Amino acid sequence: MSTPSIAIIGAGAAGTAAARTLKAAGLDIDLYTRCGERPYNRTLVNKGIAIGLLEPAQAALPDTGATLRSETVRGLDPRARRLRLESGDTHAYDALLIATGSRARTLDEEVIGRDQAVSAGRLTTLHSAADAVRVRDLLATTKPARVLILGGGLVASETASLLTDAGHDVALITRAAIPGANAIGAHVARRLRDLHRPQHAAYLERTVSSIRTLTDRISITLNDGSRVEGDLAIIAHGTLPAAPAPWTGPDGIPVDSRLRSMHAPRQRIYAAGGVAVHHYPGHGSYRIDHWDDSVAQGIHAANALLHDLGMADDPGLYLPNSLFSARIHSHTLTGVGHPALSTSTRLVSTDPLLTAHYLEDIPVALTGIDAASLVRDRTPLLHQQAPTGS
Ligand SMILES: Cc1cc2nc3c(=O)[nH]c(=O)nc-3n(C[C@H](O)[C@H](O)[C@H](O)COP(=O)(O)OP(=O)(O)OC[C@H]3O[C@@H](n4cnc5c(N)ncnc54)[C@H](O)[C@@H]3O)c2cc1C
Repeated sequence: MSTPSIAIIGAGAAGTAAARTLKAAGLDIDLYTRCGERPYNRTLVNKGIAIGLLEPAQAALPDTGATLRSETVRGLDPRARRLRLESGDTHAYDALLIATGSRARTLDEEVIGRDQAVSAGRLTTLHSAADAVRVRDLLATTKPARVLILGGGLVASETASLLTDAGHDVALITRAAIPGANAIGAHVARRLRDLHRPQHAAYLERTVSSIRTLTDRISITLNDGSRVEGDLAIIAHGTLPAAPAPWTGPDGIPVDSRLRSMHAPRQRIYAAGGVAVHHYPGHGSYRIDHWDDSVAQGIHAANALLHDLGMADDPGLYLPNSLFSARIHSHTLTGVGHPALSTSTRLVSTDPLLTAHYLEDIPVALTGIDAASLVRDRTPLLHQQAPTGS
């Protein structure tokens, strides 16, 4: 067989990690990114670009050696093994890795005044470098700005902390009583909530009912009838997978244990990173949207592809055991694995705070505050007794 032609859609964490792995095996790769976009590190959107610390070009990812094609892939035909490109051209491949990441959830369309606030530039997501530039430019005109952060997950918490440190007047508005409890467990989420309390206002157990856009600000009415005003509101409601057609719906790309697409079995299509939906043996489906885990998935999918081409050993089951962290109000939250998989949480230590998350009696994740070394020490214990499977 002549050298197979490999295409990767997406040049973020998963796509670039896969490209490096496949290049190292001597394969030629076409690496697609959206039209006009240079590959960049999305974790720097809030930590670097939005706060004016980095220009977008400084968040660029290093070259992988693959042929970079800056053209949005509109869709694919799995049977014909062809990509359909923005330009109308098509591109044939022998094997394909989909690493298109995720897109930001927006506010429900029932929220009155949503579109007007977006058009006025006073309501935005903070997911892309373009979002971050808009936020940076608006904050530069108003200091201190009143910033309303809608959401309570890690990106919301970290952004609240960054903007507070930058001298802005921040308020968090979250549906949950303990923001982030599903993602990091209730103990750690409670400690995080207590870290926010002295720093800025928090409207817990509230949702946005309507938004009024005025000439110089927005006024948000919450579901309890109260009103909050701000110069800018940032939606941080998490993400949805962003797959190309024919899989553009909210379900992403279900993958098997080697990260092969289950939408198109035996078609040499793989998926990794924020777009991939996994199945934990004996549990159910789950998706992880963290940088290091996306890198690990990209490498795993590339190794599975090499195995299927007869060029490498079977990489085995993919299991989530990468670290993630966030700096929030001078404290460091560290986690490993995927806490949302768990059915119970046990307190390992109160000072520093460390919790272990179990799926029945299998440890699947750890989370803690200022407990990075404890988390690292215990990481090898994750997924012990996890079933093996194909
Ligand atoms: C503000 C912010 C801060 C974050 N901070 C952290 C953090 O501190 N730690 C952490 O672990 N995680 C963090 N994350 C999450 C992390 O960035 C993501 O989990 C990670 O980037 C996912 O990697 P990925 O490869 O799946 O997707 P991405 O890195 O998003 O890459 C997706 C790629 O696909 C391309 N693409 C998409 N659709 C198409 C198409 N149709 N055609 C061609 N190309 C396409 C895009 O151009 C991009 O190159 C943060 C996310 C955000 C938004």
